[in-house]
Amino acid sequence: MAVFLVTGGCGFIGSHLCAALRAQGHAVKVLDDLSTGFEENLAPGAELICGDVADPETVRRAMEGVDACFHLAAIASVQRGTEDWLGTHRANLTGTIVVLDAARSRRVPVVYASSAAVYGQPTALPITEDAPTRPLSAYGADKLGCELHARAAGEVHGVPTFGLRFFNVFGPRQDPRSPYTGVISIFCDRLDRGETVTIYGDGQQTRDFVPVRHVVSALLAAADAASVEAPVANVCTGRPTSVLELAECVAKAAGVSARVVHGPARPGEIRHSVGSAERANALLGLGATPELLDGLAEVIAWM
Ligand code: NAD
Repeated sequence: MAVFLVTGGCGFIGSHLCAALRAQGHAVKVLDDLSTGFEENLAPGAELICGDVADPETVRRAMEGVDACFHLAAIASVQRGTEDWLGTHRANLTGTIVVLDAARSRRVPVVYASSAAVYGQPTALPITEDAPTRPLSAYGADKLGCELHARAAGEVHGVPTFGLRFFNVFGPRQDPRSPYTGVISIFCDRLDRGETVTIYGDGQQTRDFVPVRHVVSALLAAADAASVEAPVANVCTGRPTSVLELAECVAKAAGVSARVVHGPARPGEIRHSVGSAERANALLGLGATPELLDGLAEVIAWM
């Protein structure tokens, strides 16, 4: 049995990770300020430390006695980063530096959440990890900053890390009421209740939708692969899905017909995004990703 610290463990992705760690018999400490997470998401048997990941003393105490840390706490929203630039920076980049700093005295391995937002407008598809990183938002800039500081943590302080660039993650417990949530939980919620969904533009824009189960497998494998070279890898399926196709798939999973209305295209929206899963498969030995429809059925069943 090992002891893990999961920051953001009451959030969407963190709560699934904690459940998996507990199912493997590990002890889990969760550090979460419950700003977007929920106490009822806490995995049974996990210990909750309610506090701020950007507070050094809180994180230092939380890190005591742990074998590895999964750092997921963040304000996970491009829009929030625009509205509250400094506040999100404090949570998203300062919080990561605080975690790495607390890890350095015992060189605790840190697996942390980065994002496909580090790439900005893709120059070629599928997006590989060697593609240029030109974030188009404060959120993406801070996630790239996390990767740079992870590299410094390895070089200067010998802290092993692994950064995971999540694409569009979806699954149960993604809050459909949050204005910042992913498109899938909004579509599932609305179509399941017989309401229309709004698609901005022609609906041909594509995304790489990753089931949260796959993300948890990547996180668990990355804990064993963390190194002072600070590797980063995409967590994606390698399969593009258009937003229109997505609406049809959600309707199919919910057993209803897709009622779609079109709104104006959103200025500056990235047209196509799909990642290459090759590096993650090579470094983390991940199997095939679950099918979109299976993942959608899990969301509908949860609602
Ligand atoms: P989430 O909002 O459900 O979870 C984030 C958790 O962090 C919440 O429980 C929240 O209360 C907590 N938190 C926020 N600020 C905090 C602070 N200052 N101190 C302590 N806790 C704090 O989001 P999520 O979708 O589960 O995202 C988890 C991680 O994955 C984030 O780092 C996010 O940026 C990253 N990510 C998510 C996606 C996605 O599609 N969901 C994509 C790319 C990257």
